[in-house]
Amino acid sequence: MSDHPDGGVGYLEMWEYNRFVWAWEQAGKIASFLYSAGKINSSGETDIRVDSSSTPGTPLDATWLAADEISGHLHALNSFRDAEHAASDKIGQYHAIELGRCVSTADRRWPMQDKPHHVRFLRCGGCLELTLTYRPPRWDGDDVKVDCGCGYSMDDTQWQRAIKLAEIELKDAA
Ligand SMILES: [Zn+2]
Repeated sequence: MSDHPDGGVGYLEMWEYNRFVWAWEQAGKIASFLYSAGKINSSGETDIRVDSSSTPGTPLDATWLAADEISGHLHALNSFRDAEHAASDKIGQYHAIELGRCVSTADRRWPMQDKPHHVRFLRCGGCLELTLTYRPPRWDGDDVKVDCGCGYSMDDTQWQRAIKLAEIELKDAA
């Protein structure tokens, strides 16, 4: 069945298979989270920015599209009795790879725990707008990430430094 030198499963490389097994377990949970995230964002929470000029696309559309894409692959994979069966089928392996890709991307963009939030005290270092998003670590040892739709991003070290500077400025202003 498998002709992978490093022992893949069916048509999939080992890493693709592992990602697929993880994604298949997570997919239902993530898809319903994304659908509900869209609803939360559309209801006019205070966290939504008011300025309409520089808003890069609505989060609503992106989460719904991602959820729909995941649901579509899940639906197609329903006809396979398990991950190995799907990985060994020409059509199944396509959905297996795509599901793995969609779920891991969605999980990275919209983590379920500790939702990302907008940073209000610091302007973006790229476009100088108040558009930075803080993304908390998702597991022990994961990195903090702060980024903007313009492509600018900060790592944990830069973030900690920025917080310190902001604290000093606030004290000076008081
Ligand atoms: Zn920016």
